Amino acid sequence: MSSVNTAIQLITREQAASSATGLATGASTCSPALARGPWDYDLAEALAGVPAYGPGASVADVAPASTPRQGQLPEEYKLASDAELDLRIRAAKAALGDRAVVLGHFYQRDEVIEYADFVGDSFQLANAALTRPDAEAIIFCGVHFMAETADILSRPDQAVILPNLAAGCSMADMADIDSVTECWEQLEELFGTEPDADGRVPVIPVTYMNSSAALKGFCGEHGGIVCTSSNAATVLEWAFERGQRVLFFPDQHLGRNTAKAMGVPLEQMPMWNPRKDLGGNNEQTLLDSRVILWHGFCSVHKRFNVGQIEKARAEFPGVQVIVHPECPMEVVDAADSAGSTDFIRKAIAGATEPTTFAIGTEINMVNRLAAEYPQHTIFCLDPVICPCSTMYRIHPGYLAWVLEALVRGEAVNRITVADDVAAPAKVALERMLAARP
Ligand code: SF4
Repeated sequence: MSSVNTAIQLITREQAASSATGLATGASTCSPALARGPWDYDLAEALAGVPAYGPGASVADVAPASTPRQGQLPEEYKLASDAELDLRIRAAKAALGDRAVVLGHFYQRDEVIEYADFVGDSFQLANAALTRPDAEAIIFCGVHFMAETADILSRPDQAVILPNLAAGCSMADMADIDSVTECWEQLEELFGTEPDADGRVPVIPVTYMNSSAALKGFCGEHGGIVCTSSNAATVLEWAFERGQRVLFFPDQHLGRNTAKAMGVPLEQMPMWNPRKDLGGNNEQTLLDSRVILWHGFCSVHKRFNVGQIEKARAEFPGVQVIVHPECPMEVVDAADSAGSTDFIRKAIAGATEPTTFAIGTEINMVNRLAAEYPQHTIFCLDPVICPCSTMYRIHPGYLAWVLEALVRGEAVNRITVADDVAAPAKVALERMLAARP
């Protein structure tokens, strides 16, 4: 199976040819601009003076002014052929040996994943880095919050490097420390701070791993905790033991899907819109709440809908539909099962008979699973090829650049979390590790 990037290049060429001949083609991508080098967007941002997520699933999301921007990639890396970049990356990795470890997220493009020493989800990768204590540099081919988490968990002398600084996460950016602090002050004013007769405080903050280090630090400082999509139910149980209700950010869908599966009624899960007073709620709604959901979402997983599941079921009787819990509730409800990237991988790996799987998560991961398990038919529920735009900002050219700089003794694009943020963030992460079902 060709990579997502190869498919996008092909579609873009076919679309150009069809507009000349009038003949329509089959496959489609959400943005032909994906076929261009990500450095085009570095330049566009520099000229416009505002950050953006680039083409792909998050293209319509508004990037906050604080979103990091990537400077210009040196020309030699933009002009290098794929073959030249391959030689240079392999040579730099060989020269660095155990001094560098390259981590690749499940959603990263194949052209980068082929150089990864470990492939996994954000938390698996942060832990994988801990198994390489000799590594002076951890090159995280994922997005910004993942590199921050790796920096929090790694030794201070290890440099965590994000090959393209513009590889952020639009969902993580939907909750920032100022808005969450303001929300917290309003909630404290409404609920007070005194525990009830059972010793439970009025509200516990829970942040999804997909959030800035500042928000993880906020949770550490306010009796809260971090969760992943694998352990969200365990973490919510932990929080309900200690609090009357939970403030869950930034992903409303993971919060809603998890709490609903635990029996929390939808009417006790109001949404908090940070642009409105009391998040757009009245006092009684908040007083009656069990989970207050931040108004955040992932634009990749928001693309999935019930119509796609109905179509898959009609075309492939017996199809197993598995979706990620960042998908909207009605999609999760219509699927056969929902779970983290690790859950999806294990479900496919554990299928003993040839099975047709329709998967609701990022296209790079789905295509890689299809290649890895040829005995099964595996396809993405979304027929349009539309990768995570921020993850896609990492291209082999950036990887070659950061690796060759390391060979020269320079750590470019280093991600460093300040000690006063890292310490409480680590507390919130450690609470998560200690939480047990
Ligand atoms: S897939 Fe969604 S949540 Fe994951 S990095 Fe991309 S935008 Fe963020």
